[in-house]
Formats: sequence, C-alpha cells, structure tokens
Amino acid sequence: MTAPRPSVLVIGAGSTGAATAHDLALRGCAVVVVERGEIASGTTGRNHGLLHSGARYAVKDAESAVECVVERDILARIAPDLLELNGGLFVALNEDDLAYRERFLDACARCGIPTRELTLAQVRDLEPALSSSCLAAVEVPDGVFDSLHLCLAFLATAESNDATVLPYREVEALVIRASSVEGAIVRDRRTGERVTLEADIVVNATGPWADRIAALAGVDVPVAPTAGVMVAVNGRYVDRVINRMAPPADGDIVLPQRRTVVIGTSSWSVADPDAIAIPAEHVALMLERGRALVPRLQEGQTRAVFAAARPLVGRVGGAEAGRELSRTFQCFDHAADGVDGFVTIIGGKTTTARAMAEKVSDVVCAKLGVTAACTTRMVPLRSYRTAYDA
Ligand SMILES: Cc1cc2nc3c(=O)[nH]c(=O)nc-3n(C[C@H](O)[C@H](O)[C@H](O)COP(=O)(O)OP(=O)(O)OC[C@H]3O[C@@H](n4cnc5c(N)ncnc54)[C@H](O)[C@@H]3O)c2cc1C
Repeated sequence: MTAPRPSVLVIGAGSTGAATAHDLALRGCAVVVVERGEIASGTTGRNHGLLHSGARYAVKDAESAVECVVERDILARIAPDLLELNGGLFVALNEDDLAYRERFLDACARCGIPTRELTLAQVRDLEPALSSSCLAAVEVPDGVFDSLHLCLAFLATAESNDATVLPYREVEALVIRASSVEGAIVRDRRTGERVTLEADIVVNATGPWADRIAALAGVDVPVAPTAGVMVAVNGRYVDRVINRMAPPADGDIVLPQRRTVVIGTSSWSVADPDAIAIPAEHVALMLERGRALVPRLQEGQTRAVFAAARPLVGRVGGAEAGRELSRTFQCFDHAADGVDGFVTIIGGKTTTARAMAEKVSDVVCAKLGVTAACTTRMVPLRSYRTAYDA
C-alpha cells in the first residue's frame, strides 16, 4: 500500500492561489482550492492585465522590478498563448519627464530590463495615436494578459495533476486542534451547505482579505489593501503599453485589452476590499491623464469603470502607504506565531504569481517533508479552455 499524499487546502483562486495549486500539485501534493466566488473574482480579475517588464518599478523598487522581468520571461515560455507580447513605451511629454530619462535607463540596465531608445519617427510609426507632444520614448518588453485566462490555465494544469478546484466555497472558520490548523469549514454559497475539509496544511492566498482569514487562526498578517481605479474606453487606440516616463503616479498607464484601452490607475488605502467606493475625481483624472498620453481617447466612449485593492505588504495607516510600499511579496509561516499548519502569502503582482507560488510551496513542502523541487519555470501550462472540461 502506498502512503497517502500530503494534503494542502489553498484558500483563494486569484493568481496567487491558482499558481500555488499548480506548483504543489506538480510536487505530488493532494491539493484542494476553495474560492468564495468565481475564479479570479478578487483583485486578479480587476487589474489592468499588464505583463510588467519591471520598468515601471526599476527606479524606486528594484527588487520588484527584477522579479517582474524574470517572471515575464518565464510566463512567455510556459504560457505564450495567454500573452500579447506587444511591448511597451515609456514616453516623455515634458522637460521633467526628459530629465527622468537617464535615471530610468540606468535603473533598467541595473535590473536587467532591456531598453531601446526610439526616434520620434519610429514612435509615430509604431503608435500614431500617441500625443504629438512626445519628446522621447524608450521601448521595453511589457505585454498584456487576460487575468482570468491565466488563472484558469494554472488551475487546468493543477487539475490535470489531480487538484480539485471548488468555486463558490467560502471559508467561514478554520479547524484548529492543539495549536495546529488542520482544515477549514467551508460554506457552498449556492446551496448554503457546510462541509469540513481536512488538510495537512492550509495556505492563505486571499490577497487583500488575508488578514481576515489569518484572524480566524488568531494570528496577524500585515496586509495593506490599497485600491486603484481603472477606466476602459471603447476602441483599440494603441497596440503597446504606454507608460509615462516619470515615477509611478495616477493615470500614467494606457494599454490595449482586446478592442478597448484601459487607463490606470490611482492608489489609496481602504479598510474593506469588499466596499471600494470609486471617487468620481479619480475617474476624471484617469481620463484627463490618459488623454494627455493618447489624445484620441476622447473619441471613445467609456466602457467600464472598475477598482480593486492591491494586497500590499504593510500596515493600513502605516508610515509608508500606497505608492511608497514595495510591490514585492512575503510568505508567513505562522508556526512563528505559535500556530502550525498554516501559511500566508501576500503582496506581489499577477505577473509574479508563479514566483510567489514557488516561495510559498517551498515553505509548505519543507513543513510536509516533501522533497520534490519546483518545476514550474519549465512546465508549459495547459490551455485555459480545458479548465471547463469535465
Ligand atoms: C488597480 C490595480 C491594478 C493592478 N494592475 C496589475 C497589472 O496590470 N499587472 C499585474 O501583474 N498586477 C497588477 N495588479 C496587482 C495584482 O492584481 C495583484 O497583486 C494580484 O491580483 C493579487 O492576487 P491574489 O491572488 O493574491 O489576490 P486576489 O486576486 O484578491 O485573490 C484572493 C481570492 O481570495 C478569495 N477569498 C477571500 N476570502 C475568502 C474566503 N473566506 N473563502 C474563500 N475564498 C476567499 C477572493 O474571492 C479572491 O478571489 C494590480 C492591482 C490593482 C489593485
């Protein structure tokens, strides 16, 4: 008789939970993922879908920038069909932007992010709708993805390795015995039925809700839900990701998503990720600043306005907030807080979900005595379409 496989319950099916399920299933764990809504119905399903080259963070947040450029290349290898590798431009519109260029180019070089300075004729040729005030532009390997498809591809691959994915299952309580988390009580939101799911280890991958799940185990997680507003405009006015050549600020990204363009974003602390009130002035600012980069956006109708909260590592109301907080990630083994069998992963980006999954899976496997190494850098993801196969 073979010994039962170690079991892991992953809470949350955003990009972090989906990538974690994939990693742990490949290492031979018996994985169950529970998600209170549809797949990617948290922050992941409401972001720009910008596959970061890391250039946006190179000057102020080099650690995150390096993570992004490494993971961008890995995703391009394991999931090429999910990405539009259309590139990005950093565009200077005034003298301040121009003055930032040298710092920007130096920082990208230090982080290993390839750059190419373009002539204005090349810029006009590549992106005719860009502002005629453009003074200089640098090309970087940004891209675009569909967040839902990315999550489904991770989960479809996990399912092909025997993982079970349960949407519409909300964790209401954790099963705790002798200071060890051994499962969760989960309510099916469609039927109201409650079941207890037992597991050797529970992974808390609930993004901006991570502190709530942690509180069920009586431990604290430093998550700072930091919201941002995005505006989608009908019409594909650009084919590349257009960034302002300046430190990250409100409304400085314009990117294509299918037949729309998305303008983002703003940044402010929120107490409740389920109750983000979208300030009208943020919407106006997105449109104003987006049109400064791409004036033809004023021809398009607003298709959607949406917001989500970043699960940044930090404290609500802490000395550092919003854009000052790093976009890198952190994993917490709550054995350090006196609660075993329970691990939390927060922070990061959808672009770096695979690396986040590797980190948390290394911690989980060390606790379980699983010696299999991470292989997600090389294993191609299955088509997202197979996630719905019986
Ligand atoms: C405005 C904005 C723009 C962004 N743009 C980009 C971008 O362009 N590119 C990029 O790479 N990153 C971007 N990000 C960052 C990225 O979206 C996040 O880092 C990432 O989505 C976090 O994923 P996650 O899986 O950790 O969290 P989430 O996606 O929030 O997933 C957590 C899941 O846990 C579930 N959950 C919560 N409580 C329970 C419970 N009790 N039981 C069961 N399930 C539960 C939630 O429903 C949710 O689906 C952006 C973020 C914001 C806010």
